[in-house]
Amino acid sequence: MYDFNTGEKLLEICTQSNFTIAEVVIRRELQLNENARREAIMAELTNRLEVIRSGVIEGLNRKDKSVGLMVGGLANKLKARLDNPDFAFFHSKVVAKAMTYAIATNENNACMGRILAFPTAGAAGVIPGILCAVAEEFNYDDDAILDAMLCASAIGLIIAENASLSGAGGGCQAEVGSATAMGAAAVTQLRGGTPTDCINAATLALKNTLGLVCDPIGGMVEVPCVKRNGMFATMVFSASDLTMAGLVSFVPFDQVVDAMKRIGDMMPDAHKETAMGGLAQTKIGREQTKKLGIKITGV
Ligand code: SF4
Repeated sequence: MYDFNTGEKLLEICTQSNFTIAEVVIRRELQLNENARREAIMAELTNRLEVIRSGVIEGLNRKDKSVGLMVGGLANKLKARLDNPDFAFFHSKVVAKAMTYAIATNENNACMGRILAFPTAGAAGVIPGILCAVAEEFNYDDDAILDAMLCASAIGLIIAENASLSGAGGGCQAEVGSATAMGAAAVTQLRGGTPTDCINAATLALKNTLGLVCDPIGGMVEVPCVKRNGMFATMVFSASDLTMAGLVSFVPFDQVVDAMKRIGDMMPDAHKETAMGGLAQTKIGREQTKKLGIKITGV
């Protein structure tokens, strides 16, 4: 009754039940797992929100270099700019914060802090970045943020069922692209959007990431991954703003997911986390890989 594996089915359930996406996700869980309890689900989500917050804080404060020596101290530098009244971001405060917090999360991962995945480790920054930033800037309470996490998970679930969430499976469109779509739905629900609005925001975000390849230097989740999470965190707000201004995606969500799957299937292996193509095979990428003593097979 509450199970879904497409956006169309999810919207049908939301319309018939008059529930939010978050509520449908909870009821689906209760329906599919007879041992599940609402209180236990929310307690586990609360734990995860704490992990998310501590990852952001650790990332903002650390200045050490990552294992692959390509990132480190970036979020700390951005935080100093955020705290400096003489430094003007083009972005509004919430967007600049989300970008900073997303980079903090990924940098903490790359520096071997407690590894966070949402939905994957490579794409871990987008959703924590935007959720922590909007909670601070708009005073959303934890209950609202937990519901936003549930809403995001519905989008991730549909993409996982019909395409892929992994860079090795479908390129970075599947990894950071999916996180961006999940985040767009989450912030749209937070600001009072309907389930249709949430799906539309996710659609706009996902559409704009199609074709994104996975080409990390040395096969390490550092370059382009860390800054990419920050930049795609900003796109979440564009997708939500366009949606709430009434702009509807011409292509429906499920068809965008299908397109993403087909693009991923046609993508050469060199652009699916093998470090055999793209940025990984630039001059500096090859030099760094050699410096680290990493052998990329197949090149
Ligand atoms: S480039 Fe590859 S490893 Fe890096 S975030 Fe994207 S999918 Fe993950």
